[in-house]
Amino acid sequence: MEWEMVAGLEIHARIKTETKMFCNCSNDTFGAEPNTHTCPVCTGFPGTLPVINSQAVILGAKTALALHCEIPHFSKFDRKSYFYPDLPAGYQISQFDEPISEGGYVEFFVGEEKKSIRMNRLHLENDAGKLVHEGGMSLVDLNRAGSPLMEMVTEADFRSPEEIVPFLKELQKILRTVGSSYADMEKGMMRCDVNVSLRPKGQKEFGTKTELKNMNSFTNIEKAVRAEIKRQKEILEKGGKIDQETRGWDVIKEVSLSQRSKEEAADYRYFPEPDLPPTTFTDEGIQTLQESVPELPAAKLERFVKQYKISWSTAEILSGDPELTQYFEIAAETSQNPKKTANWILGDFLAALNEREDISPMNCVLTPQNLGKMVQLIEKGTISGKIGKEIFPELLETGKDIEKLIQEKGLEQVSDTGEIEKICQEVLSENPQMVEDFKGGKEKVLGALVGQVMKKSRGQANPQMANEILRNILGK
Ligand code: ADP
Ligand code: ZN
Ligand code: MG
Repeated sequence: MEWEMVAGLEIHARIKTETKMFCNCSNDTFGAEPNTHTCPVCTGFPGTLPVINSQAVILGAKTALALHCEIPHFSKFDRKSYFYPDLPAGYQISQFDEPISEGGYVEFFVGEEKKSIRMNRLHLENDAGKLVHEGGMSLVDLNRAGSPLMEMVTEADFRSPEEIVPFLKELQKILRTVGSSYADMEKGMMRCDVNVSLRPKGQKEFGTKTELKNMNSFTNIEKAVRAEIKRQKEILEKGGKIDQETRGWDVIKEVSLSQRSKEEAADYRYFPEPDLPPTTFTDEGIQTLQESVPELPAAKLERFVKQYKISWSTAEILSGDPELTQYFEIAAETSQNPKKTANWILGDFLAALNEREDISPMNCVLTPQNLGKMVQLIEKGTISGKIGKEIFPELLETGKDIEKLIQEKGLEQVSDTGEIEKICQEVLSENPQMVEDFKGGKEKVLGALVGQVMKKSRGQANPQMANEILRNILGK
């Protein structure tokens, strides 16, 4: 029998706020000493009162709009009770039946094919702490407890495992473009539960799903989903039934293991959070937020290919990171040559940035204007491409103005006929054998002679001119 996969995702992303969701503790907890970013609120002391972080609400709402969700005028928080050592209050503050947003969709590309996945909702909640198991002990770190999260739930619209990672990468780009989350999976800033089921191809009803919990790398997700499809298929083909359960992916053994079945599923006893007021939005407020949503990465990718006539893969990289996008657009505007500009950015510029953790495109001392000017000077023939390559590290290091640097170092390409002719004459008299070979019909030798001229001029001679002058002298 032919089976079809059905999948839906639940994604949690840490909102990029200064403070936590309901208290004044710093939200910048990554890599901090355990339990140094805590207070009575986020450690669940009785008698404390939560206060809603408006920055988190605004960033959540803005993200929801970027996912084309509707924001109702009224939303509220609910208590979700469960008991676990990393949750000192015994409940999480989340949103149940009246979340901050509903509906929506995300457009993205699988290869160059455009897809759309419907969103069910984006809601706000706070994170739990973390358990660390070491030396036979289980330790609790509450730095993360109370951090603001947005949970984004898709409809069960995925039909093939190849669609999942491109969707998540797009979502990651959207969050970064909106500026609502760092969305790094490795740092746990974004994690994903994948719900998977199979149904006989052509059947309308969904099959029973399993949930792969807390996936935190793109590679693992793809592997885990494929393995889960295979596992379910084997059971179904033997006439078995799928247990509705939560499974965890063992990264080392590359198998999923059952963690919790439906029978053991928690009853969260949701009820409206009595300590918090509802959240309200006016039409004007929503409109203002809508206007602040930047161009989405998928739209930008399409625009880049059309407007700048660059390849799909180049546009994918340049549109993927908001700072890189900004850098490229400014540099291309200055150079008036987007293709060449893209080559420099993807090549020497990104290579240098990859080596240095501390610089990002827009805080690099080599400004996009300066890089754009360099591309233009090369195109105009003021300097050679070779010289460009040579001085690039210095531009990156010092941020010196390219025109000043060229003047200081006397690097202008020599386009003075007389001067090049002089060098050509010298080269010809130093290489009589080559001259003879050329006259005897070995056209290739000319390239080597041009090379000699370039070398003698320390890369500054205009190579086209050198070529022409050599031919003239040699009478060809
Ligand atoms: P639960 O109540 O078990 O949490 P939800 O209805 O809230 O389930 O859905 C959770 C996620 O699972 C959503 O992304 C949804 O699209 C997806 N989902 C629901 N049913 C199925 C199914 N039969 N197969 C695959 N995914 C599903
Ligand atoms: Zn706190
Ligand atoms: Mg659910």
